[in-house]
Amino acid sequence: MKIGIVGLGLIGGSILKALQNKYELYCVSKSPKTIEKASAFASLSSDDYSILKDCDVIFVATPISHTLETLDRLESIVSEDCIVTDTASVKTFVMEKERPYKFIGSHPMAGTENNGFDSSFKELFEGAKWVITPNIDTKEEDITTLKKIISEMKAEIIIANPFEHDEAVALISHMPMLVSQAIFKAAEKNDLALKLASSGFRDMTRLAMSNLTMAKDMMHYNPFNINHALTKVIESLNLLDINYVGLIPEIKEKREKMYSEDGKNIL
Ligand code: NAP
Repeated sequence: MKIGIVGLGLIGGSILKALQNKYELYCVSKSPKTIEKASAFASLSSDDYSILKDCDVIFVATPISHTLETLDRLESIVSEDCIVTDTASVKTFVMEKERPYKFIGSHPMAGTENNGFDSSFKELFEGAKWVITPNIDTKEEDITTLKKIISEMKAEIIIANPFEHDEAVALISHMPMLVSQAIFKAAEKNDLALKLASSGFRDMTRLAMSNLTMAKDMMHYNPFNINHALTKVIESLNLLDINYVGLIPEIKEKREKMYSEDGKNIL
């Protein structure tokens, strides 16, 4: 099977490294340096999209704001039997247009605050969830093909509809990033606070170091759900007014049960 990857940053590079030696891999990226580095892992790497024309499956891992133009560009290149998936952190907007190939949206729930090919690594998806958002007319056999490749990267597949996906990731990823930035901003002018800050502040503000393009794109492409999630957080802050002492042990217990000792989500 021939697999294409477009956009060789953290996600695309990690897909490439995880699938190396398992498939024939054809990679397209923008910068000559990245293309050269990727050539050590791929059958062919180039800035020329036409190398993707015989691919059976293509992963698009360009920044969110370049996803639609990449999907459009593939329309005149790949066959109608080609399965194309994207990796964008927001799903509704990529699912809106009918494509002349078999498009299945997807989103790996794995990442770091780093970006670019040099930050990619083959173990990134191991034990992570990977959401697939099929269309109503997506064939089961095409979902199976995609699932098989994703499973080879040792990720666990979750099927969801794009609306529910965007609502859910706003709660656990996009809104927390915004809150993390806000927490940092609230403390930034207090020199003593910054000097005293230890692991709690470090953990609470890790997402403030997110990839800048991705942070901006998430706000742009998922604003309704992020606002809704923020409203929920503000409602939750009322905890202090209701039964704080009674609720805190319950929250602690539920949070403790969510992750294994090595940090994987076990729900
Ligand atoms: P990234 O590290 O910035 O990588 C994107 C790469 O795409 C760039 O490094 C660039 O590579 C290449 N590129 C940009 N425009 C292109 C174009 N027009 N054609 C071909 N290649 C192009 O970003 P990322 O974190 O991998 O994110 C990629 C996608 O994965 C996004 O949609 C994001 O929402 C999604 N995602 C990210 C995370 C995360 O935590 N980072 C998690 C899950 C999903 P060169 O310039 O070096 O060639």
